[in-house]
Amino acid sequence: MGHTSYNPYETAQKQFDNVADKIGLDKSVRELLRQPSREFHFTIPVKMDDGTTKVFNGYRIQHNDARGPAKGGIRFHPQETVDTIRALAMWMTWKCAVVDIPLGGGKGGVICDPHTMSMGEQERLCRGYIRQLYKNMGPNIDVPAPDVMTNGQHMLWMMDEYETLTGGHYPGVITGKPVGMGGSLGRTEATGYGVVYTLREALKELNIDIASTTASLQGFGNVAEYAARLYTKMGGKIIAISCWDDIDKKPYTYRKADGLDIEQMAGIKDKYGTIDKEKALSLGCELLDGDAWISQDVDILLPCALENQITPEKFARISSQVKVICEGANGPTTPDSDELIKERGIYLIPDFLCNAGGVTCSYFEQVQCNMNYFWSKEEVLEKLDQKMTAAFHSVHRLAMEKNLYMRDAAYVISINRVAEAVKLRGWV
Ligand code: NAD
Repeated sequence: MGHTSYNPYETAQKQFDNVADKIGLDKSVRELLRQPSREFHFTIPVKMDDGTTKVFNGYRIQHNDARGPAKGGIRFHPQETVDTIRALAMWMTWKCAVVDIPLGGGKGGVICDPHTMSMGEQERLCRGYIRQLYKNMGPNIDVPAPDVMTNGQHMLWMMDEYETLTGGHYPGVITGKPVGMGGSLGRTEATGYGVVYTLREALKELNIDIASTTASLQGFGNVAEYAARLYTKMGGKIIAISCWDDIDKKPYTYRKADGLDIEQMAGIKDKYGTIDKEKALSLGCELLDGDAWISQDVDILLPCALENQITPEKFARISSQVKVICEGANGPTTPDSDELIKERGIYLIPDFLCNAGGVTCSYFEQVQCNMNYFWSKEEVLEKLDQKMTAAFHSVHRLAMEKNLYMRDAAYVISINRVAEAVKLRGWV
């Protein structure tokens, strides 16, 4: 997915190696942690509505579970690759470790395009996925969640299939379920809000008043929408949003120099995060090319769509006004752009810290499911804010103390925690 010349798994390994060198990680720990512990590759035959059977390729990858059951989303995407899932599984391990929750890292995916599938076909695909995986997942083994182009309904079909096959009630088997069916209040907002909790803290450290800032967003799906909602609620102004247009098969950027009305924009997008072009134009938005989000004169860039979006080529288009890059998406920056970000002194909030709100709330969902007692939305969001704020400050503090790039500081904390767990377990 994303830029074809970058392999996200190589990026994830490069980032890991770089920090492993810095902290002098033992050879055996390094070998163990730079690749997944387990991979499942399988076919999923699905009866389509026209009577034919289509075979989809599905994957689940468990990178490391020394600190707790593997945890991570399932993505549905036509250009999904095994290496993308490997990278994402690895990033999940670091993500759970950086926010200090007792979970490991996993990720799954299916090569498919839900845009072209009926709800019945999608349900059969979800159930087929679980039939192939159920022996190797579970509340204490590996706990999936929604991700790109999957949602609470998909998770519920998956939970139902798991419970049908295993003969019990296991709401903790999967997270991101609809509220009332084992889901947690606040999960929909969690990732985007988490992004903004870390942004708020970063701006405080930089002595910048959030209400005086402007931002540009890539993506308008779950993460981006809720980040935009909270950021504007705190007084910030979103100037531009880029999203995919599935009719024209290319992205567009929607801009309003005096700030987009997020409520209004959310009202004209579909469930895949695509903004209706005609309606946006009628609301007075300018329509620009898909990459224009990156070249806006704003204080904050929020890449919240896909990996490999900030390449050196695109970095050259970033305005000198930009002070903070908040990586809402997973892996939006290529390693060669990290050097450029450092050189320019832009403050980076790295992906696995920035977007850890989703998995933190998933952890809260599991805890609530296991207790069979559910918290109010305020309670969930308050606990989320505490976790994200604490994680942000431990990374920021280390970065300041040791003069480290924020991504490296986050890695040092995570890798040390996971290395400690594998050593304590006696795996190495
Ligand atoms: P989503 O499917 O809800 O939204 C994706 C958005 O990106 C859509 O608005 C789509 O139009 C846009 N997009 C796709 N291709 C684009 C392109 N070429 N240019 C501009 N926009 C484009 O996905 P999401 O759940 O919001 O996830 C976004 C990112 O955040 C992914 O990298 C995902 O792995 C990561 N993430 C998601 C969660 C979560 O809880 N949803 C948690 C952590 C990380």
